[in-house]
Amino acid sequence: MKKSKRKLVIASGKGGVGKSMLCSALAMLFAKTKKIVAVDCDADAPNLAIWLGLDPSSAKRERDKTIPVIASARPEIDYKKCNACGLCVKNCRFHALSLKNGRPRLNQFLCEGCGACEVICPQKAIKLKPVQNGEIKILNLKYDFPLISGNLFPGESGSGKVVAEIKKQAEKFKYDLMLIDSAPGTGCPVIASLQGANLAILITEPTPSGFSDLKRVLEVVNHFNIPWSLVINKWDINPQLSSKMEKWTKSKFLGKISYDKQIFKAISNLTPILETNLKAKKEIEKIFNGLKLRLD
Ligand code: SF4
Ligand code: SF4
Repeated sequence: MKKSKRKLVIASGKGGVGKSMLCSALAMLFAKTKKIVAVDCDADAPNLAIWLGLDPSSAKRERDKTIPVIASARPEIDYKKCNACGLCVKNCRFHALSLKNGRPRLNQFLCEGCGACEVICPQKAIKLKPVQNGEIKILNLKYDFPLISGNLFPGESGSGKVVAEIKKQAEKFKYDLMLIDSAPGTGCPVIASLQGANLAILITEPTPSGFSDLKRVLEVVNHFNIPWSLVINKWDINPQLSSKMEKWTKSKFLGKISYDKQIFKAISNLTPILETNLKAKKEIEKIFNGLKLRLD
């Protein structure tokens, strides 16, 4: 594995299994010896900033930067040219257009920006116009690395494109290691998060659904031939299944983190795990040491 400009993605088959917690702590640990850029690719629910002790909803801070993302387009109808033939309505397979009072009307929440209506309109009354459907934030943290995150506006589609844009912005920074908090699941934003990864750390919980989600995300990771390691979070809620998963992953097993209600208390006070004395802190440090050996 190349020793500079490496990308490490923390991914999971489902949300809420500790991805951002692990990513934030690893970013803080790696930042002690490497040039880091932290990237939150969960454009539908970005929360890496919170795990790093920053309230993103707080008043905009001077050194932060916001960049608009224009990832789709919507039709604009020129009613002076339209003769209400209804062809656009009939040919919109997403049912985003309907005729009301003799005029085609757009439901923007159903429109996928495919452009079929523009092509089909005999009067050339429809033009596709780019729309801003999200934004990217470059946040300056009290730690010695930037955080690039992004979010999709409510009701908008195109999170995969937003993720690609977040990563493009992150590439503008000088770094040895890019730590990427992936979107959960196996869809478009996950594929965009995993693209170009040198290593994927998969994190899951020892539950039947956690195990099955792990296998699903692993199919994506294997499809792209990305080396991977496994971390089990809350391993002690089901030690038997946890041990089965550990054996199943063999040498890919990286470590485990215990369940602790205090973690949620810490995070609700915007205290990063590494700034606590919780057991999870020690366990993540152990995972970090194992990971360093795999990266070196
Ligand atoms: S296809 Fe063009 S002319 Fe026909 S209803 Fe739609 S906008 Fe109007
Ligand atoms: S751009 Fe596509 S989805 Fe949107 S209204 Fe036109 S045909 Fe329908």
